[in-house]
Amino acid sequence: MTAAQIVAQLKKFNVPYKEFKNWKTHNRNHKGAWGPVHGFMVHHTGSDSKDQRALLYDGYSSLPGPLSHFGLAQDGTVHLIGWGRANHAGRGDDDVLRAVIAEKDLPPDNESNTDGNRHFYGVEVWYSGSHRMTDAQYATLRRLAAAVCDFHGWNEKSVIAHGEWGSPGKWDPGMAPGRMMDMGKVRSDIKATLAKPKPKPKPKAPAFPGRGYFRPGARNQYVTQLGAQLVKRGYGRFYSVGAGPTWTGSDRAAVQAFQKAQGWVGSDADGYPGPVTWGRLFS
Ligand SMILES: [Zn+2]
Repeated sequence: MTAAQIVAQLKKFNVPYKEFKNWKTHNRNHKGAWGPVHGFMVHHTGSDSKDQRALLYDGYSSLPGPLSHFGLAQDGTVHLIGWGRANHAGRGDDDVLRAVIAEKDLPPDNESNTDGNRHFYGVEVWYSGSHRMTDAQYATLRRLAAAVCDFHGWNEKSVIAHGEWGSPGKWDPGMAPGRMMDMGKVRSDIKATLAKPKPKPKPKAPAFPGRGYFRPGARNQYVTQLGAQLVKRGYGRFYSVGAGPTWTGSDRAAVQAFQKAQGWVGSDADGYPGPVTWGRLFS
């Protein structure tokens, strides 16, 4: 996935995000391979501080940044930190990686023989891990993981915890001191997010063509379009032969009935459509 492609996925899944510095080209590709990518790894930072962008971007002397692709703030905003190889996963178990690729249940992680930074996207959730992450963080985490999996055609079994990977001493993401979240539950929540159909964008109302098209004797496509919409909205009783391109008394009567049904009176309900009638009719 390219930087532009992840941004499109974040939009598709309504993930709130902010870009940090030169995240699109910030990576450690000069230090080793990036890809093929097989999964998405969840971490906690171990700190409850409010702004952890700089730490994740720069890292520190023994572990240079970027330390993840995504930072997830307490308010549920994703901060884009880097794109490419990042120092988040360390070494882990090749049996776990094989299970992730096959989307099978994970085996026990008991080896650290495989470079995880090459094969995983990573999110660092900004909290200590000694308590639960915020509801906003969890809601975004589900959508973020789904956004990544959706792009690759992965299911929820492509999502693992750092604590499942095989890096010694890791238990992130945590829910209590030393205690990892129930990743089975996390994965089943991500599965539900992945399965949820995306809301269809509402069709936009066509632009009002102008009053001159709706006058006695007028004959044009807009009269047909207007009549068809009136029939669709339940005003078919005014038409004996159906809506057509010639403006007739049936059109006027149908428009007037529609206008009156809006509570409009006088010149607002004269049976001739203006932009307000048109907009209401097609909304
Ligand atoms: Zn971690």
